[in-house]
Amino acid sequence: MTVKLYRNARIFTPLDPGHPLRGKEQGEIKEYSRGAILAVNGLIEKIGDEKDILGGLSASYVNEERDMEGVCVIPGFVDPHTHLCFAKRREDEFKMRLDGLPYLEILKRGGGILSSVKAVQNATEEQLFCNTKKLAMAALEKGTTTVEIKSGYGLDLDLELKMLSVIQRISRETPLDVVPTFMGAHAVPTEYKERPDDFVDLIINEMLPKVKDQGIAEFCDIFCEEGVFSVDQSRKILKAAKALGFELKIHADEVHDLGGAGLAAELKVRSAEHLLAASEENLRAMGRAGSIAVLLPATAYSLKKPYARGRDMIDWEVPVALATDCNPGSCFCESVPFIFGLGVMNMNMTIEEALVASTLNAAYAINRQHKVGSLEPGKQADFLLLDGETPTTLAYHAGSTSVVEVHKLAERVA
Ligand SMILES: [Zn+2]
Repeated sequence: MTVKLYRNARIFTPLDPGHPLRGKEQGEIKEYSRGAILAVNGLIEKIGDEKDILGGLSASYVNEERDMEGVCVIPGFVDPHTHLCFAKRREDEFKMRLDGLPYLEILKRGGGILSSVKAVQNATEEQLFCNTKKLAMAALEKGTTTVEIKSGYGLDLDLELKMLSVIQRISRETPLDVVPTFMGAHAVPTEYKERPDDFVDLIINEMLPKVKDQGIAEFCDIFCEEGVFSVDQSRKILKAAKALGFELKIHADEVHDLGGAGLAAELKVRSAEHLLAASEENLRAMGRAGSIAVLLPATAYSLKKPYARGRDMIDWEVPVALATDCNPGSCFCESVPFIFGLGVMNMNMTIEEALVASTLNAAYAINRQHKVGSLEPGKQADFLLLDGETPTTLAYHAGSTSVVEVHKLAERVA
């Protein structure tokens, strides 16, 4: 048994009431101005004011003690939406976009999501693993201790399984906790362009059951958007996934208000993502259904688009989480501190709301709330030391990661 005591820390954490935080609750953070954490075998046994933790604690019980010298401590970040398993960057495409080239022209020159599919096709599993691991470790250094990673650059059974097995390896061979998501419905492959319903059937009849058999994905996600998958097709796939026992996510109403957020509410999905064009009515329905809005401000930044209405969503009682959306196309960013700053500065979230959005609500969005997302007894001792006095530094110290140490299960990992 390893018992570690961290004392004299200024600790900030959401408190988990057993459901994602919404409305006013999302702005509530517990502060221990001189706090302590007692961790046993990587899990938090006690946390609170230092005098309460030290009182009655016998010195022989503790194996390791650290005086934190008043440093600011917060929970490790949870990034609930990434596509960071990919084989090739698309930097040239980003430059073309900046130079004003229309998307169709970029596609003609071999860009877009299908170029990522080709790259996954051409890469060995080892190459794909090395690329993914590099990015996962970069995310860890910036404070991400739990991450969701999607497949979706395969679009056929073998390549999707190849991606998911790489994602499983990231889980085994890095300190990160990884939540794997199957996203075969990320785009319609070229050969199905004229008959997309056949591809929907392929996902339902072949891919989902096979992925389920192998037990290598927990969530099923889909890109519901004009020209990709319709609301009806999305409903069909998500219902089939639910029947097999998958948890559900949906990329909804990113560009057009198709009604993806309404479908999210109807199916009571765990989370819906993007939501830039979603209607107030559907967003409120999502809040009532208990679905979490996962907002991706670095994507708006990279595409020079308006930001999702994070402030309004919180006011409308929708629980809000933040995620990087790290991917080679629309948003190459694995930094939670960066999206935290965007959430505060460009979506008018408060510091407290952004902290909840990148920890506890993010944990709920990937079904890890019982393990991570807040610093409370029974949860993992996953925490970060920041360079400032309070979590405000994450937005204030712009362009810096602000994260000086990363601890996972009470071990320093970065
Ligand atoms: Zn995405």
